[in-house]
Amino acid sequence: MAVSKFYLGYKQLSKAVFEWEAADRTALLAAFMVIEVFSHWLWCLFVWYRRDIYSNYVDITLLYPLWILVSMVGVFLLWMSSRFSPVRNAKSNLYTWQAILITIYSAYITFVITILGHSSLVTGVSLVGGAMLGMMLISRRYVWRAFVGQIIAILAVTLFPYFGITLPNLRQMIATTLPPNIHSYVTYNEMAMMKDATAATVLPNGRLNWDSVNYLRQSSNLLWRSTHIYMSLPKAIFIIYMFRTLLVILDDSRKETLQHANQDELTQLKNRRYGLMQMKQALVSIERAQDFSVILLDLDWFKDINDSYGHDIGDRVLVTVAQALLQSLTDDAIVSRYGGEEFLIVLPDTKHDSAMVIAEQLRLSIADQTIVVDDNTTFNVTASLGLYTLTHDERHCIKHTCEKLSQTESGYQFKKPQVSKSNSERADKKVDTVELPQDICQRLICMADKALYNAKGLGRDKVVSANEMLKAGDTKIESLYSN
Ligand code: GH3
Ligand code: MG
Ligand code: MG
Repeated sequence: MAVSKFYLGYKQLSKAVFEWEAADRTALLAAFMVIEVFSHWLWCLFVWYRRDIYSNYVDITLLYPLWILVSMVGVFLLWMSSRFSPVRNAKSNLYTWQAILITIYSAYITFVITILGHSSLVTGVSLVGGAMLGMMLISRRYVWRAFVGQIIAILAVTLFPYFGITLPNLRQMIATTLPPNIHSYVTYNEMAMMKDATAATVLPNGRLNWDSVNYLRQSSNLLWRSTHIYMSLPKAIFIIYMFRTLLVILDDSRKETLQHANQDELTQLKNRRYGLMQMKQALVSIERAQDFSVILLDLDWFKDINDSYGHDIGDRVLVTVAQALLQSLTDDAIVSRYGGEEFLIVLPDTKHDSAMVIAEQLRLSIADQTIVVDDNTTFNVTASLGLYTLTHDERHCIKHTCEKLSQTESGYQFKKPQVSKSNSERADKKVDTVELPQDICQRLICMADKALYNAKGLGRDKVVSANEMLKAGDTKIESLYSN
């Protein structure tokens, strides 16, 4: 099977973020920083190598100290990345090293941004990218502080020239900023340099020659724009890749959390809580003339299966039964694992007779399942089912009983039905406005359970209806709305 590169990256990144220890994550961050600083080092090398051309618009005297600084920071970060393993278990030391790392990097990046021209693309990308990566890998508090510090530094750098403070700038006077084509904002420094340039040491015979201006403008633009792209694009691509990966991680973990909250791990059916919740929702949204059936299914002699073949085989039986239930039922049915070997099946909008047919099919389909233990041993499993159908008439009866009981304060806890002003409108839509007691689900299940108990008493592998027991005046069963 072909595995996409994105998937591999996602796996690695989620591992790094969620599973790696703090020290290893910090070392990884230092390694990323080393890569970035190395790319700056290569840029210095390139400009130095082509200094015959680029000395026109790069201040080569400033390039050398910059190059030395870049080399020193690179070596320092490289050394730092190896520092984190030894402090793996000393948390306070680790935090100190993290603070040093982020401070050095922030100061370095602010300096590089300043020297390259602070309004560049590199500024934004570096700020956002560095902060994002840092927040994923080390103490967020430190990264946030460094981020704020960098913003303040960049704002200060923007204002300095207006107070007459000259900051170092790698950009030599460039013809780009000469009229008539002013491409970018001109800083105080650049204005000053522009004046010098018109005095024109770079221009032939000290005179402004438009051919030279155009030549300088084009090549200067190309160098500086390529520089900004070179420095920011890899980081920008990396940020977007990380962001996409983070969203995938987030989506996956949300799905997983929901799954854990709602699903039974063994059978993959809905769990009891979620099954009951869906049952309640189905009851609320039931329409006026619809009946509502509930089946409680319990495997027969399941303890004996565990005792005879072991728990693993018992588990396998549960999974097989769950699959058989899903296969025999339509999507409208709500199937959940109610307890150990008990399953709750809710059939919204199903009349009693149809529900009985369905219950009988379920019983047969479970009895059809053959469980293979080994080459010589197989066995079958049976289930007993108790069914109860809440008819729409009965729902209305419950409502009236509840109303009466609430008036006499007999202990029923339920809300009075909210009768809307547009009652006739509602009647047209046939939406049932009856408000049922809070514990209605438990009451329905209790009725089905009584029928299930009867099925066990009748010898198991049977379907028994609580409605029929009620009709026959069975003394073991009381009506749904008795307290
Ligand atoms: P009956 O026909 O009367 O229902 O008898 P039974 O043996 O099925 O009923 P009982 O309630 O005595 O036994 C249920 C057993 O189900 C007991 C418990 O160990 C087992 N059980 C509950 N959950 C699990 C499970 O997740 N896996 C396995 N293998 N067994 C489970
Ligand atoms: Mg049981
Ligand atoms: Mg049982």
